[in-house]
Amino acid sequence: MDKVSKKSSAKKRVAKRRRARKPMTRSQMMQAVHSEDTKPEMIVRKALFEAGFRYRLHRRDLPGTPDIFVQRYGVAIFVNGCFWHQHGCKLTSRPKSNSAFWNDKFDRNIVRDIKTQHELSLLGYRVAIVWECSLRAEGVADAGNMGAALTLERLIDFIKSDDETIEL
Ligand code: ZN
Repeated sequence: MDKVSKKSSAKKRVAKRRRARKPMTRSQMMQAVHSEDTKPEMIVRKALFEAGFRYRLHRRDLPGTPDIFVQRYGVAIFVNGCFWHQHGCKLTSRPKSNSAFWNDKFDRNIVRDIKTQHELSLLGYRVAIVWECSLRAEGVADAGNMGAALTLERLIDFIKSDDETIEL
């Protein structure tokens, strides 16, 4: 078999395998949505890096696996999706169908977030919650935020402060 036909038969095999792949289950879909390198998180990482902070990502040995952990300042940062963590702003809608399932899921997320914050502060760490909507260029009026630039400025001030916690 020459090189070209070898290559094209390999391509066909891949295509066949792709077609054969089963559709994602709901939990696989949710995992995909929950991906660790979401865009709002990247905005925060970039701003902190440019401001000279060095950090570790997704430390699984800490409660709640903080998205960003600034070791030198003992600050755990969570960049929360407004939908998944039910911020209550206008990006927060509860699905109408299958509502018992979703309400249960959201309520567990909310309880877990509170528990995580408590555990981190018991370990002596400070906690920053940065909502997705506060990282939009213009902010979201009903969430009372003023846009990404101000959010990032306030986050950096918090890291350097002695404050225990902040929600942005
Ligand atoms: Zn929000």
